[in-house]
Amino acid sequence: MNPFSYARPTGIAEALREGAARHARFLAGGTNLVDLMKENVERPERLVDIGRLPLKKIEDLEGGGLRLGALVTNADTAYDPRVARRYPLLTAAILSGASPQLRNAATNGGNLNQRTRCYYFYDRETPCNKRQPGSGCGAIGGVNRIHAILGASDQCIATHPSDMCVALAALDAQVRVAGPNGERVIPFAEYHRLPDDKPWLDNWLRPGELVTAIDLPPEDFSQHYTYLKLRDRLSYAFALVSVAVAMRLDGDRMSEVRIALGGVAHKPWRSSVAESGLTGERVTVEAFASAADAILEGAVGYGGNDFKIELARRAVVRALEQAAHAKPQSVTDKRVT
Ligand SMILES: Cc1cc2nc3c(=O)[nH]c(=O)nc-3n(C[C@H](O)[C@H](O)[C@H](O)COP(=O)(O)OP(=O)(O)OC[C@H]3O[C@@H](n4cnc5c(N)ncnc54)[C@H](O)[C@@H]3O)c2cc1C
Ligand code: SF4
Repeated sequence: MNPFSYARPTGIAEALREGAARHARFLAGGTNLVDLMKENVERPERLVDIGRLPLKKIEDLEGGGLRLGALVTNADTAYDPRVARRYPLLTAAILSGASPQLRNAATNGGNLNQRTRCYYFYDRETPCNKRQPGSGCGAIGGVNRIHAILGASDQCIATHPSDMCVALAALDAQVRVAGPNGERVIPFAEYHRLPDDKPWLDNWLRPGELVTAIDLPPEDFSQHYTYLKLRDRLSYAFALVSVAVAMRLDGDRMSEVRIALGGVAHKPWRSSVAESGLTGERVTVEAFASAADAILEGAVGYGGNDFKIELARRAVVRALEQAAHAKPQSVTDKRVT
C-alpha cells in the first residue's frame, strides 16, 4: 500500500476543503475503496474520512418524498420502515446485494460511487483504460462474461455493479451534492456516465464534490414492483442481469411503467421507448416481449457475454409479469446486526 495522509472532518465545509487536496478521496464505509487501495488500484495521497459528517438521517420531505443521507448505511436504508413501506423496490434491490455484514458498513453515497468489478480493473498486470488511461482494454477480446451489452465503447465495456442504483434509476431519484462551487442536484439518470472516450470517469461529479443525500420522489409504486436479480450464486454475488420495474395499473392497462436494467451497461439502463410503448397497453406477455425487444435493440455481445442478451430479454419479460401481478421477487433476508 502507498503512504497517504488522513483527515477526519466533522463538518461539510471542512470535508470539502480537505477533499480539494491533490489526489484526495472520500472514505465512507470503506468496503470498496480500502479493497482497491490494498490492490494498489486506487492510490490516494489524502484520505478524507467522512464518517463523522452529519449525513446519517433519513428525513421526510414536504410533499411525501424521502431524503436518504449519504452516510446512512445500506442496511439502515433498506430496513427503514418508511423506505420498506413506500419504496419496497429500493429495499428489495439493496437486500439483494453483497452480504448483511457488508450492508451494515456500506453507505448510500459509497454505493453510488463504487467502482466496476471488471477483473482487469483489479489486476494491475493487465491493460485497463479505466485504471490506466491509454493502456487498452483487457476485457475486449479477453474474459468478458460479466461485461456490458449496451452503451459500451471501444475503450471500455465495464458495467456498474450496484443493485441499489438500478432501483434508484427506476424511481427517478435525485442526487444532492456539495462542492467547492456550492450545492447542486443531479437527476439520477444523469449521475453515472457511459464510458465513451473517457472510461476512467464513472459519473458526472466534479472534482472535490461530495454526495450529501439522495432524494426519493413521492410517487407510490408499492403495489406493482419487482427487483429481479440473476447471478451465478443466490447470494453474495453481483448481478449478471437485473431488472427493476415500477408500474401503475388502471384496470388491466398500464398507466405508467418504469424499467431499469443492471449488469448490462456502465450505468443503470433505462429505455424511454420501451416504457412509453407499454403505457396504455393491456398486461400481456406479447406487450412485455415487445418492450424487451425495444430495450435490447442495439445490444452487442463480446463473446463471453453473448448469453446476456437473451438472458436480459427474458428477465425483462419475467420482471414485468412479476410487477403486473404484484408478485415481486421475494426477499427473505432477515436483519443481521
Ligand atoms: C464482496 C463484496 C460483494 C458485494 N456485492 C455487492 C452486490 O451484490 N451489489 C451491490 O450493489 N454492491 C455490492 N458490493 C459493493 C458494496 O455495495 C459497496 O462496496 C458499497 O456500497 C460501497 O460503500 P462504502 O460506503 O463502503 O464506500 P467506500 O468504499 O468508502 O467508497 C467507495 C467510493 O465512493 C466514494 N464515496 C463514498 N462516499 C462518497 C460521498 N458521500 N460522496 C462522494 N464520493 C463518495 C469513495 O471516495 C470511493 O471512491 C459488494 C462489495 C463487496 C466487497
Ligand atoms: S472493460 Fe473497462 S474496466 Fe474492464 S479492462 Fe476494459 S477498460 Fe478496464
